[in-house]
Amino acid sequence: MMSKNMHRIVVVGGGAGGLELATKLGRTLGAAKRAKVILVDGSATHIWKPLLHEVATGALNTGEDEVNYFGHAWRNSYQFEFGWMAGVDRERKVIQIAAVKDESGKEIVAPREVAYDTLVLALGAIANDFGTAGAQEHCMFLNNPVDAEQLRKKILSLSFAVGISGNAVRKLNIGIVGGGPTGVELAAEIDHTIREMHIYGAELSPAQLEITIIEGMPRILAGAPESLSEYATESLAKRGILVATNSRVTEVKDNGFVLADGRCIESDIRVWVAGVKAADWLTTLGLQTNRLNQIEVTSTLQTLSDKNIYALGDCAACSPNDDGVLLPATAQVAHQQAEWLADALQRQLSGSSVQAFVFKPQGMMVSLGKHTAVGSLAAIVGPQRNYYVEGRGAKLIYASLYRMHQAAVHGWILTGLLWIGDKLRRVARPSLKLH
Ligand SMILES: Cc1cc2nc3c(=O)[nH]c(=O)nc-3n(C[C@H](O)[C@H](O)[C@H](O)COP(=O)(O)OP(=O)(O)OC[C@H]3O[C@@H](n4cnc5c(N)ncnc54)[C@H](O)[C@@H]3O)c2cc1C
Repeated sequence: MMSKNMHRIVVVGGGAGGLELATKLGRTLGAAKRAKVILVDGSATHIWKPLLHEVATGALNTGEDEVNYFGHAWRNSYQFEFGWMAGVDRERKVIQIAAVKDESGKEIVAPREVAYDTLVLALGAIANDFGTAGAQEHCMFLNNPVDAEQLRKKILSLSFAVGISGNAVRKLNIGIVGGGPTGVELAAEIDHTIREMHIYGAELSPAQLEITIIEGMPRILAGAPESLSEYATESLAKRGILVATNSRVTEVKDNGFVLADGRCIESDIRVWVAGVKAADWLTTLGLQTNRLNQIEVTSTLQTLSDKNIYALGDCAACSPNDDGVLLPATAQVAHQQAEWLADALQRQLSGSSVQAFVFKPQGMMVSLGKHTAVGSLAAIVGPQRNYYVEGRGAKLIYASLYRMHQAAVHGWILTGLLWIGDKLRRVARPSLKLH
């Protein structure tokens, strides 16, 4: 029997960080009836965001890898509230959830409120087009599974159209703005997909595909050591993927990109994955935010404006050493913050003291297609020593990152069974979603 006065922890956003946090809190505080744990998300299902480039190419079928929040909540002793958070009333300690509408736009659930004692915002972020003219109208994005599915359909339909024309000179040009891990992984994955589709009988030959990564900095993977960038650049070049560095996009048109030096890069499909910022509406919550709309937090992840409200992951501006250097917007940071906060909230409820959050960099892995990746192994050898891995071994390590997220969400036994299921599915079905 639940007590009416039970402490209410509301986590908004069931992404890489929020879902792991709600799961841990549900299994501990929720199961022991020491707190009521509630997860709010406007989507009914979760897909780990670093997999979106695989969704966009059909290498991953969302129907098979997504987690349904309702079922997951039931198994892990938390409650799921479906809907988009629209605001917060800090005096009354309630969040507002917008009306839920069906596909035709008809309201099926009226706007409602959810009360909290502790609120955790884990709302993620989106790509930052820096106000570039034409970007919103003429680019596709990879901010969520809906974007990824739209991109997949666009690639599929245009590759069919270009291939079927029978004109060997005709090319499919894909321009990707952003030479960070997301842009590099997306380019490599699209290239791999087109090659696989050719094996399955698609008319479009890999020679008809031209992918260009457009990066404003002097090198791709600018946040990684130079040798990693060099390896990735060479690996992309071997597949014919073009990399335009020192290339700042000033305008996007319906047929390509205009660069600051006046050059134009023609593109049938234009994707913007550069930069990162939190959603604009976060600045309306009355919480202190930075110029990227991220909510500023202390080293205990509490917002500067309200100690009952926490923020983590991409939507939070966290500088654990108070030196103004912010943690990057990565799944690695969101995961570590979720783990730390689950423990901290339990300690707080039992009256124990809480130490500040410390980020432990685990290195960086970037996938370069189905069989290869490149990365550094800071997790094993320490962040001070440069030890890099590449090729199939690196790809195995890269794949294990997703399995670790699955383990945090489902436990190791279920993760093992899911892994076996994936292997069996690969034998029985094409390795790409081709429809
Ligand atoms: C293609 C791609 C590849 C990437 N690869 C890597 C990688 O290899 N390694 C790595 O470390 N990082 C990678 N990242 C970055 C990583 O995905 C993010 O840093 C991470 O997902 C952030 O986790 P989060 O919990 O803060 O937010 P997210 O995982 O983005 O989750 C946010 C959640 O909030 C929900 N939400 C948003 N607004 C509302 C609202 N108003 N009300 C209710 N719910 C809301 C969303 O539906 C979503 O479920 C990649 C990102 C992309 C796009």
